[in-house]
Amino acid sequence: MMRLPLFAYRAPSSLEEAARILHGEGPSAMPLAGGTDLLPNMKRRQQVPRTLLSLRNIEALRAMQLGHSGARLGACLTLSDIASDSRFRNGATVLAQAAAQVATPHIRNMATLGGNLCLDTRCNYYDQNYEWRKAIDFCLKKDGVTCWVAPSSSKCMAVSSTDTAPALMALGARVRLVSQSGEREIALADLYNNDGMNYLHRRPDEILAEVVLDSWHGWRSTYWKLRRRGSFDFPVLSVAAAIRFVSNDGTGAACCAATREGNVVEDARIVIGSVASLPLIAAEAGKFLVGRALSLETMAEAAVLAARIAKPLDNTDFDMSWRKKVTVEFVTYALRELRGDDVGAERTAITHNPSWT
Ligand SMILES: Cc1cc2nc3c(=O)[nH]c(=O)nc-3n(C[C@H](O)[C@H](O)[C@H](O)COP(=O)(O)OP(=O)(O)OC[C@H]3O[C@@H](n4cnc5c(N)ncnc54)[C@H](O)[C@@H]3O)c2cc1C
Ligand code: SF4
Repeated sequence: MMRLPLFAYRAPSSLEEAARILHGEGPSAMPLAGGTDLLPNMKRRQQVPRTLLSLRNIEALRAMQLGHSGARLGACLTLSDIASDSRFRNGATVLAQAAAQVATPHIRNMATLGGNLCLDTRCNYYDQNYEWRKAIDFCLKKDGVTCWVAPSSSKCMAVSSTDTAPALMALGARVRLVSQSGEREIALADLYNNDGMNYLHRRPDEILAEVVLDSWHGWRSTYWKLRRRGSFDFPVLSVAAAIRFVSNDGTGAACCAATREGNVVEDARIVIGSVASLPLIAAEAGKFLVGRALSLETMAEAAVLAARIAKPLDNTDFDMSWRKKVTVEFVTYALRELRGDDVGAERTAITHNPSWT
């Protein structure tokens, strides 16, 4: 049985107190939200904080404000809270779909939005127990000196494996970070760093307090996730896409017709997850779509542009060149779905393909 290492436990009831404790403890303390990633990591000695700062008693972190101008989502809302809330439909479907596909129902009842956004990066050589990692003399990310994926590399390439980050980036989310010295709001995209070890631009004394979203009225969005087991598994490729079509009456409201084949794209965001140490914004593909109708040719070209930035490595499940090819397919499925095609059969096939298990 794997046991937790010894640690001190603090459970403040206000954000101010939490920020004060984190500041005082320094980098050897880590916030604990649902604990569904951090506690197993501690058992495997991948992360060994001296102090755990529980966020569970801070009511403000579980607040949810949804209005015409957008939303403010507390970092300790659970993924079940988000997945089951019917208000995250239509424009924000991408977020509900991503949250609903994290792990299992039990885990989603504990797992939080903030914890998912700050999730540790993953790699086949790192997500192992202590004895396994010791047997290969550990690796650069923890306790070792060599990267077993790219031995000549001085940088870790562990993979960003969060489901909700690509989804929220497709919605243009921002996050509010709070510390004893103040607070700052940054684009969620700017929270991430392309480095498997230092994968966040969050300072150790900062708490991710809130996710901030502008109104998604007039947008349509969707999430496609590749994983081995449809019942539960980390993503090894994901595509989050959001599109706003030019409306017939200039208000954005007309983009609710069933078929949008002839409708012209006014704005588009495509984000590719789990193919690098951070979620990647396919900016060129998004730009290419603006001003065009989603014909099959346009979607095919956009999908190739989007997949160009995906550079999967051989450190997660599935063959890396196959994952790259699937990126093209997934972007195409997502765009087809957003223009109104019925892609239910394709979605079912990727979720229940027995040849992958
Ligand atoms: C079997 C299994 C399957 C899983 N499958 C998936 C999956 O498919 N997709 C997926 O995305 N994840 C998956 N996970 C990982 C995990 O369950 C989720 O990512 C979950 O959302 C993490 O949230 P948490 O609240 O439990 O985070 P915790 O484990 O509490 O924390 C995770 C990290 O975030 C930091 N943190 C937490 N909250 C904050 C905050 N407010 N401010 C600053 N830092 C913070 C912690 O210090 C820690 O570094 C899986 C886990 C298991 C055990
Ligand atoms: S990418 Fe390299 S350094 Fe990073 S976790 Fe994997 S083996 Fe370790």
